[in-house]
Amino acid sequence: MVSAILLAGGSGSRMHSEKAIQYIEVGGVPLIVHALRTFRESPVDAIILVVRPGDEEYVRQEIVRPYGSAKVRAIVPGGKERFDSVWEGIEAIQAFGSGRQEAGNTADSAAPAEEDIILIHDGARPFVSVEMIRASIEAARQHGACTVAVPVKDTIKVVDASGFGIDTPDRSTLYQVQTPQTFRLSWIREAHRRFRAEPRPGITDDTMLVEEYLGKKCFTVPGDYRNLKVTTPEDIILAEALL
Ligand code: C5P
Repeated sequence: MVSAILLAGGSGSRMHSEKAIQYIEVGGVPLIVHALRTFRESPVDAIILVVRPGDEEYVRQEIVRPYGSAKVRAIVPGGKERFDSVWEGIEAIQAFGSGRQEAGNTADSAAPAEEDIILIHDGARPFVSVEMIRASIEAARQHGACTVAVPVKDTIKVVDASGFGIDTPDRSTLYQVQTPQTFRLSWIREAHRRFRAEPRPGITDDTMLVEEYLGKKCFTVPGDYRNLKVTTPEDIILAEALL
């Protein structure tokens, strides 16, 4: 089974707007609807929407009902940090996953189950494509963990506290990481479990959790420069233009 966690649990404070970023209309529909539609058209079996606590009913009525998807299996409240929201999504998958296992626990289900796969995607990235999702699922099946990424276009400098550049890493090895990030469910669940038990500073995404807490490598799948995260008013203009 392939599930996707669509994250829309952020406050969107960088937008300085009345309406939370995930519900602002872009191309005539709320921002989150773009990613929702793409995941619906993809080979993903189930979608979990993680929303701001208290937004569940709004999202059910205003997003899922009008634009919705039979694939939306749960709308769950997120947590304080992005990692907490991902964890809530993983818990929701476990909840309906265990029901599925019990239901399938019959004599004719002796074939070994294919490893469950989970995609984690920022709902604020409307330009995810079905192709990226397909490639991510395939890479996660093969390698256990992957992220979409694009080569950096700019030269990157490491800068010290006083503002001096102290290193200029070889650009040909540098990639900018996007979402979806895709994993064997058992891996990402265990990585999050260990992180929650013993948090370390400086972890900025889910692939880092798998690298740091499980010692596993994450593969990269071609992303797209258009796969931007809409976080500021300028990004809305850009997203409208790209649409
Ligand atoms: O805030 P940031 O840019 O890291 O948000 C990335 C994605 O994570 C957004 O889609 C946002 O809605 C989501 N998020 C979340 N729960 C949080 C913080 C962010 O679901 N507590």
